Amino acid sequence: MSRVYNFSAGPSMMPLEVMQQAQSEFLDYKGIGSSIIEISHRSKDYIAVAREAEKDLRELLKVPDNYSILFMQGGGRGQFAAVPMNLMVGSGKADYITTGNWSEDACTEAQRYGDARAVKADYRSEDGLIRVKTDLTFRDDVDYVYYCDNETVCGVEFPEIPDAGGKLLVADVSSNFLSKPVDVSRYGLLYAGAQKNVAPAGLTIVIVRNDLVGRAMKCCPSIFDYKIMTDKESMFNTPPTFCWYMAGLVFKWLKDLGGLEEMGKLNRAKADYLYGFLDSSDFYRTAVAPEFRSRMNVPFFLKDESLNDKFLAEAKAAGLTSLKGHRILGGMRASIYNAMPMEGVKSLVAFMEKFAKA
Ligand SMILES: *Cc1c(COP(=O)(O)O)cnc(C)c1O
Repeated sequence: MSRVYNFSAGPSMMPLEVMQQAQSEFLDYKGIGSSIIEISHRSKDYIAVAREAEKDLRELLKVPDNYSILFMQGGGRGQFAAVPMNLMVGSGKADYITTGNWSEDACTEAQRYGDARAVKADYRSEDGLIRVKTDLTFRDDVDYVYYCDNETVCGVEFPEIPDAGGKLLVADVSSNFLSKPVDVSRYGLLYAGAQKNVAPAGLTIVIVRNDLVGRAMKCCPSIFDYKIMTDKESMFNTPPTFCWYMAGLVFKWLKDLGGLEEMGKLNRAKADYLYGFLDSSDFYRTAVAPEFRSRMNVPFFLKDESLNDKFLAEAKAAGLTSLKGHRILGGMRASIYNAMPMEGVKSLVAFMEKFAKA
């Protein structure tokens, strides 16, 4: 077996220990003679898996009792629609802080359901680097303020929760979910597509404060109605059973590692190592100001872009894959989610150093 360091932005690397456990019990889950993917989501064995995963996630993130955790489908983009259909129901207005393509797309989708306004917060300062404005103002009567905590494509992450002027705050945390401790009580709702940092594609995790549930628009499909999903404990329809099970294994892995404090330190160390190298090199450059750099997705550019193809080919030969940047941005992007070990980042830096010298 040979496994590479895979820097894909999503679906992305999973922890090796989790993959091995899933493999070892794939054909016969704990002696029941069936695979976890072959049994009913309503069976005793599966319900135990599902509830355990929820319990572990609640513990990891210290989710307060007045919040529900939902295991949904439809991905991040499903929530681009579900959020306004459930929450844009008072004044019918919401302000969207935009810092890149995911928050912009979320705002555009919300405009199908009401008066969603983009509040553009990213800008290029004189040094050419991307920064995020902090002195934002919102309309008085919005139902919520929305933002994306980590923009996966351009690699912009909020260093702290933005000031929403006391308004209900909703966040897309798809690409930095469980990468550090988070104060859930600051939010009305948080959601994450699982395929970046938690599980295989197909699962979306929503954490919602209970008093916000039960007000969905009539047009809201039942599977996107947080009230129905809460009442049915995420089993209104058949959930993505394998993904949910895999997420559960990842939650155990995180707990064994020491929880989100520990994970946060590791992620900080990995990102510092990579950005430290990029800053010290005159062969490569980055595009985001240090205080807004993502710890998860690190876009970088070769100063001589004619070497891009050669860089990617040689990186691949060295066992470092999926480094090509997003088509919107070009250049390179190294996604270094929870499952990417420090050794992977060190291998990448060693390769980049060697490539620059050659
Ligand atoms: C990937 C991503 C999405 C879209 O997720 P899908 O599951 O593909 O719909 C939304 N927001 C962010 C921040 C993402 O990284």
